[in-house]
Amino acid sequence: MLNVNEELCIGCGICEESCPFGAIEIENGCAVIGESCTLCGACVETCEVEALSLEIEKVVKTDIDAWSGVFVYCEYRDGELAPVSTELLGIGRTLADKRGAQLSAVLIGYGTGSTAEKLIGHGADTVYRIDHPALELFTDENYCAVMTTLIKEKQPEIVLAGATAIGRSFIPGVATTLNAGLTADCTQLEIREEDGALLQTRPAFGGNIMATIVCESSRPQMSTVRPKVMKELDFDATRKGEIVDIVPNSELFGNRVKVLETVIGEAANVNIQEADILVSGGRGLESAKGFELINQLAEVVAAKVSASRAVVDAGWIPYPHQVGQTGKTVAPKLYIACGISGAIQHVAGMQTTETIVAINRDENATIFDIADYGIVGDLFEVIPKLISKIEERR
Ligand SMILES: Cc1cc2nc3c(=O)[nH]c(=O)nc-3n(C[C@H](O)[C@H](O)[C@H](O)COP(=O)(O)OP(=O)(O)OC[C@H]3O[C@@H](n4cnc5c(N)ncnc54)[C@H](O)[C@@H]3O)c2cc1C
Repeated sequence: MLNVNEELCIGCGICEESCPFGAIEIENGCAVIGESCTLCGACVETCEVEALSLEIEKVVKTDIDAWSGVFVYCEYRDGELAPVSTELLGIGRTLADKRGAQLSAVLIGYGTGSTAEKLIGHGADTVYRIDHPALELFTDENYCAVMTTLIKEKQPEIVLAGATAIGRSFIPGVATTLNAGLTADCTQLEIREEDGALLQTRPAFGGNIMATIVCESSRPQMSTVRPKVMKELDFDATRKGEIVDIVPNSELFGNRVKVLETVIGEAANVNIQEADILVSGGRGLESAKGFELINQLAEVVAAKVSASRAVVDAGWIPYPHQVGQTGKTVAPKLYIACGISGAIQHVAGMQTTETIVAINRDENATIFDIADYGIVGDLFEVIPKLISKIEERR
């Protein structure tokens, strides 16, 4: 909390000017803190008379010890489990074993059938199943209320969720309600040996550095993780676990949001993250027309089409096709990069591909540093030749 010492404040207005969020106003010669204050502390540093102070509420160590176990939110929608759920159970299992704790899956939805058994086969010790008609359609307020209530009751020390549209939408609300820290888009999660804290690593400053974030004094420690970054465990039908059915109190469900209709946009069907082969186009294609060639190559190798941000920004192809730090993380068996330079932000989204083939006319292009096979040449000459060779082989 940000405190103003009214006796010391001289109403000079320096804090008002220094606040990046416009949260401070001078009223009757004294600073007044508004609701948009984020506790960033910028004003505290600028106050020359030391009238402002930040009071950080710390959870005492005994409270921290009361939190134990790892929760994984397992996303279920329209009869399907999002693949990131089992990927998170894979890393969740590693973290729980290191902490000597339980791994629990949280399954929220309606008509989830045998999904809970599947989650046990993929590593969960316990599945908390909240299967209710009010949860059939996703709404932030209902999912947030259910998840928050369960976390408060069970007190897990770690909560993981996929950085999918749904995870990104309601998990921040859960973290805020619990007054917990949340690290978005983690690419690596580890346990610190000394104190068991969760080390949450994610790209920062445009992907130029990797930042490791630790929530030392609050629980739970919450992270979202992009799909395709973690590895799922092989399904083991003999694994044993417990399924706990939870009947949510109907008072939990809000009525501020009513879903009238769900329309699946054409772009939403582009699931490049599930593709085994991707043919990806960059600025070397010269125009949107260049994607005709990419589509032809994709067709002969049964691939999906992806792209760099440069061509998405140029409007040559819609955003759901974008690979990279601000796009999707992919890990196909084969990635054919055509006219893509290999900027760090692009590579961050595809470097775990099994085999990378790059076509670029610049022999010094960075993409060749990570490519398994490189073809130096004009893509407008190389791709048609490649297509006819593949067709010949058939
Ligand atoms: C915060 C931030 C986030 C970002 N997020 C992403 C992201 O998620 N994904 C992403 O992709 N980028 C991202 N970027 C942008 C990134 O830095 C690059 O600008 C972008 O990836 C470049 O796209 P490109 O490789 O298609 O274009 P360019 O860098 O312009 O490369 C084009 C390549 O095509 C080659 N070429 C040209 N003509 C031909 C030809 N006829 N035949 C063969 N080769 C040819 C050139 O030699 C060149 O190597 C981000 C940047 C920032 C700052």
